[in-house]
Amino acid sequence: MLDEHIVFVDLETTGATATHDRITEIGVIEVNHGQLISEWSTLVNPGMSIPPMIQALTGITNAMVASAPSFAEIQRALLPRLKGKLFVAHNARFDYGFLKNEFRRCGVTFNARVLCSVKLSRKLYPQHARHNLDTLLERHELACEARHRALGDARVLWLLAQKWTAERGAAAVKAAVDVLVKTQTVPVGLPDLAFDNIPETPGVYLFYGDNDVVLYVGKSINIRSRVMSHFSGDHRVNKDMRIAREIKRIDWKQTAGELGALLLESKLVKQLAPVHNRQLRRNSQLCAWYWADTGGADGNIGHAPQIATADDIDPARFGELYGLFRSRATAIEALREIAATHGLCNILLGLEKRTAPLTGACFAHQIKRCRGACVGLESHEQHALRLKQALSSMRTVPWPFEGRIAIRENTIDGECTDLHVLDHWCYLGTVRSEAELHDLAEVRTAPVFDVDTYKILKRYITKPPHGASIVRIAA
Ligand SMILES: [Zn+2]
Repeated sequence: MLDEHIVFVDLETTGATATHDRITEIGVIEVNHGQLISEWSTLVNPGMSIPPMIQALTGITNAMVASAPSFAEIQRALLPRLKGKLFVAHNARFDYGFLKNEFRRCGVTFNARVLCSVKLSRKLYPQHARHNLDTLLERHELACEARHRALGDARVLWLLAQKWTAERGAAAVKAAVDVLVKTQTVPVGLPDLAFDNIPETPGVYLFYGDNDVVLYVGKSINIRSRVMSHFSGDHRVNKDMRIAREIKRIDWKQTAGELGALLLESKLVKQLAPVHNRQLRRNSQLCAWYWADTGGADGNIGHAPQIATADDIDPARFGELYGLFRSRATAIEALREIAATHGLCNILLGLEKRTAPLTGACFAHQIKRCRGACVGLESHEQHALRLKQALSSMRTVPWPFEGRIAIRENTIDGECTDLHVLDHWCYLGTVRSEAELHDLAEVRTAPVFDVDTYKILKRYITKPPHGASIVRIAA
């Protein structure tokens, strides 16, 4: 165990529930090959009050954390301290769960190989029933100068690790650690070393079950750590528990970068329809609102937006289509919401028939939600103008190029390149060189529009990340 790169971690918190309570103090002791590398500790402002009982136990008061940084402020400094090391804590599930949740709140995925020192103690000293920290201090005749403070308790773990290694021998400790760390991560259906060959690069991974049924397809900028996080054993979602029971084989496809992983994942999920991926509706139900801005004096005044169905959703018409919806019902719901927010008239929008015989007012106007285009309180021109503004946020984006392009994406070390070939928001494929690019350009199959691909590309092309380059391909 001590031949590894380890962090001994202890946390103080406002309570016992990782999803509700927050961290008030973190202590980290880093040890590499048995050498103490660093000790690090900070108070953390939990953003909530610490219960009096806990203040009394730890000595950490509301006043002490009031001026401390929040977890969000220290997470950048903390993450590199923990990353890639064996995470050791007493009741590790508790500390690891708290940190995972705090990182998640900051939008960061934190995963580690975890070792619980309670379990290790139990394995090395099975003759003893109690393995809490106070009992262990007494049993091994160790002293702690700051019990119930994060760094003080983390130091105890480091002392225990040395004591155990001295008493039981490095080989016995290592064997016990190996069993504990492994049983917790590799699902039963997989060989022990199933994770060892998975690369730490961007790409897509596939989980297979009995009879090579595809269970799940996912993507990551670090395939290995993402795969392992499915089986980390803490805060598992139901889906991951089912996958852990059914999985028999893992496969993966490396990509140069994140875009390639996103495009490939989207393609494979549709192609393979894995058992545990959220099943997306097929494009056949796709629809959008069509509302042409003719620009003339009368424009499209008086014309209600029309629903364009899958056959009409041609990327060449993007700009005149608004929103892309997976069903007619969601399209109508979205337009109703826009009408309600902006005081537009459901009668003029074609969402309601004129039923009030005397006034001709729409229902929304009767409850003062529609500004009254239906009863002449607002001109149709003015209503059309406001509709145009209201729709603008969901306007589809016209393809900003002449024709086919490729997006060049390099691996971090610059050694490999992917060229993703695209035409009018459709993904045609990925090649590895300019020569292949022209082979693919020869292929004249009609591109198939896919809404998920469109969303991925729209985000990417309207805000290209640093280092992305676009190659124009002659038609
Ligand atoms: Zn109205």
